[in-house]
Amino acid sequence: MSARIIDGKLIAASIRERLRDTVAAFTQTTGVTPKLAAVLVGEDPASQVYVRNKEQACTKAGILSEVHRLDEATTQADLLRFVARLNNDPSVHGILVQLPLPKHIHQITVLDAIHPLKDVDCFHPENVGLLFQNRPRFLPCTPQGIQVLIRESGTAVNGAHVVVLGRSEIVGKPVGIMLLQKGETANATVTICHRGTRNLPEVTRSADILIAAIGRPEFVTQDMVRKDAVVIDVGINRQNNKLVGDVAFESVSQIASAITPVPGGVGPMTIAMLLENTLSAARLALKNT
Ligand code: NAP
Repeated sequence: MSARIIDGKLIAASIRERLRDTVAAFTQTTGVTPKLAAVLVGEDPASQVYVRNKEQACTKAGILSEVHRLDEATTQADLLRFVARLNNDPSVHGILVQLPLPKHIHQITVLDAIHPLKDVDCFHPENVGLLFQNRPRFLPCTPQGIQVLIRESGTAVNGAHVVVLGRSEIVGKPVGIMLLQKGETANATVTICHRGTRNLPEVTRSADILIAAIGRPEFVTQDMVRKDAVVIDVGINRQNNKLVGDVAFESVSQIASAITPVPGGVGPMTIAMLLENTLSAARLALKNT
Protein backbone atom coordinates (compact mmCIF):
# COMPACT_ATOMS: atom_id res chain seq x y z
CA MET A 1 0.00 0.00 0.00
CA SER A 2 1.47 3.32 -0.98
CA ALA A 3 -1.31 5.84 -0.26
CA ARG A 4 -1.17 8.09 2.74
CA ILE A 5 -4.26 7.66 4.93
CA ILE A 6 -6.21 10.85 5.49
CA ASP A 7 -7.34 10.25 9.05
CA GLY A 8 -10.75 11.88 9.42
CA LYS A 9 -11.18 10.61 12.94
CA LEU A 10 -8.01 12.34 14.10
CA ILE A 11 -8.68 15.57 12.19
CA ALA A 12 -12.29 15.70 13.45
CA ALA A 13 -11.13 15.08 17.04
CA SER A 14 -8.75 18.02 16.92
CA ILE A 15 -11.44 20.28 15.40
CA ARG A 16 -13.87 19.24 18.14
CA GLU A 17 -11.31 19.92 20.85
CA ARG A 18 -10.67 23.41 19.47
CA LEU A 19 -14.40 23.96 19.14
CA ARG A 20 -15.00 23.06 22.78
CA ASP A 21 -12.75 25.96 23.81
CA THR A 22 -14.42 28.32 21.33
CA VAL A 23 -17.88 27.36 22.57
CA ALA A 24 -16.79 27.83 26.20
CA ALA A 25 -15.42 31.30 25.41
CA PHE A 26 -18.58 32.20 23.45
CA THR A 27 -20.83 31.09 26.31
CA GLN A 28 -18.74 32.96 28.85
CA THR A 29 -18.78 36.26 26.96
CA THR A 30 -22.39 36.15 25.73
CA GLY A 31 -24.19 34.11 28.40
CA VAL A 32 -25.66 32.04 25.57
CA THR A 33 -25.11 28.30 25.22
CA PRO A 34 -25.58 27.10 21.62
CA LYS A 35 -28.37 24.57 21.30
CA LEU A 36 -29.15 22.01 18.62
CA ALA A 37 -32.62 20.47 18.35
CA ALA A 38 -32.77 17.20 16.44
CA VAL A 39 -36.05 15.73 15.26
CA LEU A 40 -36.24 12.02 14.61
CA VAL A 41 -39.43 10.58 13.16
CA GLY A 42 -39.85 6.82 13.35
CA GLU A 43 -37.55 3.97 14.29
CA ASP A 44 -34.98 3.76 11.48
CA PRO A 45 -32.04 2.03 13.24
CA ALA A 46 -29.27 3.85 11.33
CA SER A 47 -30.94 7.21 12.03
CA GLN A 48 -31.16 6.37 15.73
CA VAL A 49 -27.39 5.76 15.79
CA TYR A 50 -26.65 8.98 13.85
CA VAL A 51 -28.81 11.07 16.18
CA ARG A 52 -27.28 9.51 19.28
CA ASN A 53 -23.77 10.21 17.97
CA LYS A 54 -24.68 13.81 17.23
CA GLU A 55 -26.18 14.20 20.70
CA GLN A 56 -23.03 12.88 22.40
CA ALA A 57 -20.80 15.06 20.22
CA CYS A 58 -22.81 18.16 21.19
CA THR A 59 -22.49 17.39 24.89
CA LYS A 60 -18.72 16.93 24.62
CA ALA A 61 -18.40 20.27 22.81
CA GLY A 62 -20.44 22.14 25.42
CA ILE A 63 -23.40 22.51 23.04
CA LEU A 64 -26.87 21.81 24.40
CA SER A 65 -28.74 19.16 22.54
CA GLU A 66 -32.35 18.10 22.60
CA VAL A 67 -33.66 15.15 20.64
CA HIS A 68 -37.34 14.97 19.79
CA ARG A 69 -38.35 11.42 18.97
CA LEU A 70 -41.66 11.44 17.15
CA ASP A 71 -43.83 8.50 16.32
CA GLU A 72 -43.56 6.91 12.85
CA ALA A 73 -47.25 7.80 12.33
CA THR A 74 -46.70 11.55 12.89
CA THR A 75 -48.51 13.44 10.15
CA GLN A 76 -46.79 15.98 7.94
CA ALA A 77 -49.01 18.73 9.40
CA ASP A 78 -47.98 17.77 12.94
CA LEU A 79 -44.31 17.69 11.98
CA LEU A 80 -44.59 21.11 10.35
CA ARG A 81 -46.21 22.46 13.51
CA PHE A 82 -43.36 20.96 15.52
CA VAL A 83 -40.74 22.58 13.30
CA ALA A 84 -42.56 25.92 13.60
CA ARG A 85 -42.39 25.59 17.39
CA LEU A 86 -38.62 25.08 17.21
CA ASN A 87 -38.31 27.98 14.76
CA ASN A 88 -40.01 30.24 17.31
CA ASP A 89 -38.04 28.99 20.31
CA PRO A 90 -35.22 31.52 20.91
CA SER A 91 -33.24 29.02 23.00
CA VAL A 92 -32.88 26.73 19.93
CA HIS A 93 -30.17 27.85 17.49
CA GLY A 94 -29.90 24.91 15.11
CA ILE A 95 -32.59 22.53 13.87
CA LEU A 96 -31.84 19.18 12.32
CA VAL A 97 -34.53 16.92 10.89
CA GLN A 98 -32.96 13.50 10.55
CA LEU A 99 -33.42 11.94 7.10
CA PRO A 100 -34.93 9.83 5.73
CA LEU A 101 -38.44 10.76 6.83
CA PRO A 102 -41.26 8.20 6.64
CA LYS A 103 -42.68 7.86 3.14
CA HIS A 104 -45.96 9.68 3.89
CA ILE A 105 -44.04 12.89 4.67
CA HIS A 106 -42.77 15.13 1.86
CA GLN A 107 -39.14 15.70 2.76
CA ILE A 108 -38.62 18.94 0.84
CA THR A 109 -41.72 20.56 2.37
CA VAL A 110 -40.37 19.87 5.86
CA LEU A 111 -36.79 20.95 5.12
CA ASP A 112 -38.08 24.17 3.52
CA ALA A 113 -40.02 24.91 6.72
CA ILE A 114 -36.87 25.14 8.86
CA HIS A 115 -35.95 28.76 9.52
CA PRO A 116 -32.99 29.62 7.25
CA LEU A 117 -31.04 31.06 10.20
CA LYS A 118 -31.41 27.72 12.07
CA ASP A 119 -30.74 25.53 9.03
CA VAL A 120 -27.48 23.96 10.23
CA ASP A 121 -27.62 21.26 7.53
CA CYS A 122 -27.73 23.99 4.83
CA PHE A 123 -30.63 22.40 2.94
CA HIS A 124 -32.92 25.46 2.77
CA PRO A 125 -33.09 26.96 -0.75
CA GLU A 126 -32.10 30.38 0.58
CA ASN A 127 -28.91 28.94 2.07
CA VAL A 128 -28.20 26.78 -0.99
CA GLY A 129 -28.62 29.90 -3.17
CA LEU A 130 -26.16 31.83 -1.00
CA LEU A 131 -23.72 28.90 -1.22
CA PHE A 132 -23.97 28.84 -5.02
CA GLN A 133 -23.29 32.58 -5.13
CA ASN A 134 -20.17 32.09 -3.01
CA ARG A 135 -21.49 34.07 -0.05
CA PRO A 136 -22.41 31.17 2.23
CA ARG A 137 -24.33 31.56 5.47
CA PHE A 138 -23.75 27.91 6.39
CA LEU A 139 -21.65 25.30 4.60
CA PRO A 140 -23.35 21.91 4.30
CA CYS A 141 -21.81 19.47 6.79
CA THR A 142 -20.50 16.59 4.67
CA PRO A 143 -19.19 18.76 1.80
CA GLN A 144 -17.53 21.08 4.33
CA GLY A 145 -15.99 18.04 6.03
CA ILE A 146 -14.61 16.87 2.67
CA GLN A 147 -13.14 20.28 1.94
CA VAL A 148 -11.45 20.41 5.35
CA LEU A 149 -10.04 16.89 4.88
CA ILE A 150 -8.60 17.90 1.52
CA ARG A 151 -7.08 21.04 3.05
CA GLU A 152 -5.67 19.22 6.08
CA SER A 153 -4.11 16.56 3.85
CA GLY A 154 -2.09 19.31 2.16
CA THR A 155 -3.63 18.60 -1.26
CA ALA A 156 -3.44 21.46 -3.75
CA VAL A 157 -6.91 22.21 -5.09
CA ASN A 158 -6.20 25.41 -7.04
CA GLY A 159 -6.30 24.46 -10.73
CA ALA A 160 -6.72 20.74 -10.02
CA HIS A 161 -9.27 18.58 -11.80
CA VAL A 162 -11.81 17.36 -9.25
CA VAL A 163 -14.18 14.60 -10.33
CA VAL A 164 -17.21 14.08 -8.11
CA LEU A 165 -19.07 10.79 -8.48
CA GLY A 166 -22.69 11.49 -7.56
CA ARG A 167 -24.88 14.59 -7.88
CA SER A 168 -27.05 14.43 -4.74
CA GLU A 169 -28.26 17.65 -3.11
CA ILE A 170 -26.60 16.54 0.14
CA VAL A 171 -23.10 15.68 -1.06
CA GLY A 172 -22.21 15.58 -4.76
CA LYS A 173 -23.68 18.83 -6.03
CA PRO A 174 -22.70 21.10 -3.11
CA VAL A 175 -19.15 19.72 -2.77
CA GLY A 176 -18.66 20.23 -6.52
CA ILE A 177 -19.84 23.84 -6.25
CA MET A 178 -17.72 24.55 -3.17
CA LEU A 179 -14.53 23.30 -4.80
CA LEU A 180 -15.34 25.21 -7.99
CA GLN A 181 -15.68 28.61 -6.25
CA LYS A 182 -12.94 31.17 -6.27
CA GLY A 183 -11.26 30.86 -2.88
CA GLU A 184 -9.05 28.88 -0.53
CA THR A 185 -9.08 25.09 -0.93
CA ALA A 186 -11.15 25.67 -4.05
CA ASN A 187 -10.72 27.14 -7.55
CA ALA A 188 -10.70 23.66 -9.07
CA THR A 189 -12.00 22.54 -12.43
CA VAL A 190 -14.92 20.33 -11.46
CA THR A 191 -16.70 17.50 -13.24
CA ILE A 192 -19.80 16.02 -11.56
CA CYS A 193 -20.78 12.51 -12.72
CA HIS A 194 -23.99 10.49 -12.45
CA ARG A 195 -25.66 7.45 -13.98
CA GLY A 196 -25.90 9.19 -17.34
CA THR A 197 -22.18 9.97 -17.57
CA ARG A 198 -20.57 8.32 -20.59
CA ASN A 199 -17.17 6.60 -20.35
CA LEU A 200 -17.15 6.95 -16.57
CA PRO A 201 -13.77 5.23 -15.94
CA GLU A 202 -12.17 7.55 -18.47
CA VAL A 203 -13.59 10.59 -16.67
CA THR A 204 -12.61 9.37 -13.20
CA ARG A 205 -9.08 8.56 -14.44
CA SER A 206 -8.65 12.21 -15.39
CA ALA A 207 -9.15 13.30 -11.74
CA ASP A 208 -6.40 14.76 -9.60
CA ILE A 209 -8.91 14.54 -6.76
CA LEU A 210 -11.66 11.92 -6.95
CA ILE A 211 -14.65 12.19 -4.60
CA ALA A 212 -16.91 9.14 -4.55
CA ALA A 213 -20.44 9.70 -3.20
CA ILE A 214 -22.75 7.21 -4.88
CA GLY A 215 -23.69 4.65 -2.24
CA ARG A 216 -22.39 1.57 -4.12
CA PRO A 217 -20.01 -0.68 -2.21
CA GLU A 218 -16.46 -0.65 -3.62
CA PHE A 219 -17.68 0.71 -6.98
CA VAL A 220 -14.47 2.63 -7.69
CA THR A 221 -11.81 0.15 -8.69
CA GLN A 222 -8.09 0.60 -9.32
CA ASP A 223 -8.53 0.94 -13.10
CA MET A 224 -10.79 4.00 -12.52
CA VAL A 225 -8.13 5.96 -10.64
CA ARG A 226 -5.12 7.87 -11.94
CA LYS A 227 -1.78 7.10 -10.30
CA ASP A 228 -1.14 9.50 -7.39
CA ALA A 229 -4.68 10.84 -7.32
CA VAL A 230 -6.19 11.88 -3.98
CA VAL A 231 -9.29 9.80 -3.27
CA ILE A 232 -12.07 10.85 -0.90
CA ASP A 233 -14.58 8.11 -0.13
CA VAL A 234 -17.92 9.42 1.15
CA GLY A 235 -19.83 6.15 0.82
CA ILE A 236 -21.22 4.32 3.83
CA ASN A 237 -22.45 0.89 2.79
CA ARG A 238 -23.25 -2.13 4.92
CA GLN A 239 -21.82 -5.30 3.39
CA ASN A 240 -21.65 -8.64 5.24
CA ASN A 241 -22.10 -6.83 8.55
CA LYS A 242 -19.20 -4.54 7.77
CA LEU A 243 -19.07 -0.88 6.73
CA VAL A 244 -17.45 -0.32 3.35
CA GLY A 245 -17.09 2.76 1.22
CA ASP A 246 -17.73 3.44 -2.45
CA VAL A 247 -14.05 2.77 -3.19
CA ALA A 248 -12.27 -0.59 -3.31
CA PHE A 249 -9.86 0.56 -0.61
CA GLU A 250 -7.22 -2.20 -0.78
CA SER A 251 -6.54 -1.97 -4.51
CA VAL A 252 -7.07 1.78 -4.96
CA SER A 253 -4.75 2.62 -2.06
CA GLN A 254 -1.95 0.92 -4.01
CA ILE A 255 -1.97 3.66 -6.64
CA ALA A 256 -3.53 6.72 -4.96
CA SER A 257 -1.24 9.21 -3.22
CA ALA A 258 -3.73 9.74 -0.38
CA ILE A 259 -7.06 8.18 0.53
CA THR A 260 -9.75 8.37 3.22
CA PRO A 261 -10.73 5.15 4.98
CA VAL A 262 -14.28 3.96 5.72
CA PRO A 263 -15.04 4.17 8.57
CA GLY A 264 -12.86 6.94 9.97
CA GLY A 265 -12.72 9.28 6.99
CA VAL A 266 -15.52 11.61 5.98
CA GLY A 267 -18.06 10.36 8.56
CA PRO A 268 -16.49 11.89 11.70
CA MET A 269 -15.96 15.17 9.84
CA THR A 270 -19.68 15.54 9.13
CA ILE A 271 -20.48 15.63 12.84
CA ALA A 272 -17.65 18.06 13.60
CA MET A 273 -18.99 20.44 10.94
CA LEU A 274 -22.51 20.17 12.35
CA LEU A 275 -21.17 21.37 15.70
CA GLU A 276 -19.40 24.29 14.02
CA ASN A 277 -22.60 25.22 12.21
CA THR A 278 -24.55 25.16 15.47
CA LEU A 279 -22.10 27.62 16.98
CA SER A 280 -22.41 29.79 13.84
CA ALA A 281 -26.20 29.67 14.18
CA ALA A 282 -25.95 30.85 17.79
CA ARG A 283 -23.72 33.74 16.66
CA LEU A 284 -26.23 34.62 13.94
CA ALA A 285 -29.10 34.57 16.42
CA LEU A 286 -27.24 37.00 18.67
CA LYS A 287 -26.52 39.30 15.76
CA ASN A 288 -30.18 39.33 14.84
CA THR A 289 -31.57 40.15 18.28
P1 NAP B 1 -27.82 9.51 -3.32
O1 NAP B 1 -28.73 10.65 -2.97
O2 NAP B 1 -28.35 8.14 -3.43
O3 NAP B 1 -27.12 9.88 -4.71
C1 NAP B 1 -26.28 8.98 -5.35
C2 NAP B 1 -25.70 9.61 -6.59
O4 NAP B 1 -24.80 8.67 -7.16
C3 NAP B 1 -26.73 9.97 -7.65
O5 NAP B 1 -26.42 11.21 -8.22
C4 NAP B 1 -26.59 8.83 -8.67
O6 NAP B 1 -26.80 9.21 -10.00
C5 NAP B 1 -25.11 8.48 -8.52
N1 NAP B 1 -24.89 7.09 -8.90
C6 NAP B 1 -25.41 5.98 -8.34
N2 NAP B 1 -24.98 4.88 -8.99
C7 NAP B 1 -24.17 5.31 -9.98
C8 NAP B 1 -23.42 4.66 -11.00
N3 NAP B 1 -23.43 3.33 -11.13
N4 NAP B 1 -22.69 5.42 -11.84
C9 NAP B 1 -22.66 6.76 -11.73
N5 NAP B 1 -23.36 7.45 -10.78
C10 NAP B 1 -24.10 6.72 -9.93
O7 NAP B 1 -26.60 9.42 -2.33
P2 NAP B 1 -25.95 10.44 -1.26
O8 NAP B 1 -26.96 10.84 -0.26
O9 NAP B 1 -25.16 11.50 -1.95
O10 NAP B 1 -24.94 9.44 -0.55
C11 NAP B 1 -23.91 8.79 -1.25
C12 NAP B 1 -23.15 7.90 -0.29
O11 NAP B 1 -22.55 8.72 0.70
C13 NAP B 1 -24.02 6.91 0.49
O12 NAP B 1 -23.28 5.73 0.73
C14 NAP B 1 -24.28 7.62 1.81
O13 NAP B 1 -24.54 6.71 2.87
C15 NAP B 1 -22.97 8.32 1.99
N6 NAP B 1 -23.04 9.52 2.84
C16 NAP B 1 -22.09 9.63 3.78
C17 NAP B 1 -22.08 10.75 4.58
C18 NAP B 1 -21.00 10.88 5.61
O14 NAP B 1 -21.14 11.64 6.54
N7 NAP B 1 -19.89 10.15 5.47
C19 NAP B 1 -23.03 11.75 4.44
C20 NAP B 1 -23.99 11.62 3.43
C21 NAP B 1 -23.96 10.49 2.62
P3 NAP B 1 -28.23 9.71 -10.58
O15 NAP B 1 -28.41 11.10 -10.06
O16 NAP B 1 -28.06 9.63 -12.04
O17 NAP B 1 -29.24 8.76 -10.02
